[in-house]
Amino acid sequence: MIDFHCHIDLYPDPQSVADQVARRGLKVLSVTTTPLAWEGTLSLARNHDLMTAVGIHPELAHTPNANLQLFDEIVERTRFVGEIGLDGTPRYKAYRLQQAEVFQHVLAASARAGGRILSVHSRWATGSVLEALSQNKHAGVAVMHWFSGSPSELSRAVELGCWFSVGPSMLSSPRGSSLVALMPRGRLLTETDGPFAMLSGTALFPWDAHLAVQRLSQIWGVDAHEVQKNIDLNLQRLLSTA
Ligand code: MN
Repeated sequence: MIDFHCHIDLYPDPQSVADQVARRGLKVLSVTTTPLAWEGTLSLARNHDLMTAVGIHPELAHTPNANLQLFDEIVERTRFVGEIGLDGTPRYKAYRLQQAEVFQHVLAASARAGGRILSVHSRWATGSVLEALSQNKHAGVAVMHWFSGSPSELSRAVELGCWFSVGPSMLSSPRGSSLVALMPRGRLLTETDGPFAMLSGTALFPWDAHLAVQRLSQIWGVDAHEVQKNIDLNLQRLLSTA
């Protein structure tokens, strides 16, 4: 099972979540919202093979947590960058200039480092995110997390080479499900976005990624084991090529 976008450091007991992830043999991309959290989040992995990403969440772009200098140091040491991106919802729209500056910076730094696997947030800002990605083609492979753009924006993302990670919350809505049906099956991964993302009022855990597999099985009309095999192969391919 794969959870390619989870905030392990933000659960009440991060170490127990990380240990359970290892016990269950899950493959998890552990994303962070600030470079200040990277070292501590990396240490949760202990000897497990958690993938730990360095990020600057767009909701924090205007705060001192958006430490660009520290980001630049850490990006040299990891293959994974996230959570990064832009957020155009009313609460954060006022900071769109800071967001754009930070996003541009992390994309350029990722390109300088030779390209990275990027977990990208684009809520209410799909067009601007895709524009920035198209201007920073050497930043690496963008995995669009919880994509919520229009079908034509989805086509543009596919043209740009983007991948997609989809979770139970997104797949519980008809709109999310119909978008997923349009995504290329060879560029799809599962995620939970826990503990932020909830289902029926409860925060999701990495092992709830199986709920996304079940939904994909319904949407594709393919047996859940086949879906899982497909997602596993996708991750292998992403990690061997990016
Ligand atoms: Mn997230």
